[in-house]
Amino acid sequence: MTRIAVIGAGITGLTLAQELAPLAEVAVFEKSRGYGGRMATRQADPYQFDHGAQFFTAKSEAFAAFLQPFIERRCVARWDANFVEIDAGSIVSRRCWADGPAHYVATPCMNALAKQMSAGLDIRLASRVTRIVGSVADGWQLLDQQHTVLGHYDWVVVAIPARQAAELLPASSRLRAPIEQKDMLGCYSLMLGFRQELALDWQAAFVSGADISWVSNDSSKPGRPDYYSLLVHSTNLWAEKNIDADDEWVTTRLCAELARVIDRDISAAEHVALHRWRYANIGRQAGEGFLLDCDNRLAAAGDWCIHGRIESAYLSALRLAQRLQLEL
Ligand SMILES: Cc1cc2nc3c(=O)[nH]c(=O)nc-3n(C[C@H](O)[C@H](O)[C@H](O)COP(=O)(O)OP(=O)(O)OC[C@H]3O[C@@H](n4cnc5c(N)ncnc54)[C@H](O)[C@@H]3O)c2cc1C
Repeated sequence: MTRIAVIGAGITGLTLAQELAPLAEVAVFEKSRGYGGRMATRQADPYQFDHGAQFFTAKSEAFAAFLQPFIERRCVARWDANFVEIDAGSIVSRRCWADGPAHYVATPCMNALAKQMSAGLDIRLASRVTRIVGSVADGWQLLDQQHTVLGHYDWVVVAIPARQAAELLPASSRLRAPIEQKDMLGCYSLMLGFRQELALDWQAAFVSGADISWVSNDSSKPGRPDYYSLLVHSTNLWAEKNIDADDEWVTTRLCAELARVIDRDISAAEHVALHRWRYANIGRQAGEGFLLDCDNRLAAAGDWCIHGRIESAYLSALRLAQRLQLEL
């Protein structure tokens, strides 16, 4: 059987592995100790935060069909939040997501979907791939930081953010140049846990005219612990400007901006934490939705091939898997 290495166990890598496993010997390498990548959850007992992706929509038939069994098993559920848009500190619109297209979350936490998808797959956690060496004639070898060989493969598919993918692919690969053009932007996530609820009459907010772009009451999502939590995202622009700033400074700055935007005293927060995403999002991209170098048996997929969304990551992986099936 053809041996395929998939690098990254986010939704892209897991979808690729699921689609290709019936046709090839597939191993997934993931640098973290858990699955899901940017569909991330932080446990901070008694609080829990989805500090990466907040929710997802299903506009395509393919993604809706993929989600259906998870919805039936209650691993994915609608989040019918009261949603507001806040501009320059004032609420300028309101609607309830129950009245429109579904906004989904995984339950009981965002990375639960990835955990379910990983069942039955060969996934090597805590395995950071640092080099891909070899050639198509001799096969590809993956190496880790200690130069340990992680295995020999006929095909290697990178399913990691664009900048990291470009750095990892062999210098000879013609995939590197187009990937280097993909400009992913950073984001900060601020996580706040409170003993007492803040009196907000909404659960999710898009914010404009500020250095933060999103605020949600994370504990209002279905299946979450009762402990009241707020999740805040900085704007990509502000994160890019301050990406190497000191954590404490960033935290203080974002807390002040949150208090101003929602007009509440947040000093009672008993849990305050920050996460820096260097490669969080990307705007809409043109193209096939994946990159393939059949001569060298190398490929790349991810949200950054289409748009910085979970559905785009899934579709990129699905399209690449369908194309690769013709080569196996
Ligand atoms: C702050 C934030 C908010 C977002 N909000 C939303 C939202 O509300 N709705 C939405 O649809 N999308 C949102 N997104 C985007 C969404 O999270 C992504 O589109 C999607 O999760 C991308 O999945 P992926 O598998 O392509 O990449 P990732 O999830 O990034 O997965 C890549 C995996 O590869 C691993 N990895 C990287 N390098 C290596 C290596 N060298 N060796 C081994 N493993 C490696 C990483 O640890 C990671 O697990 C958000 C993202 C962020 C960061």
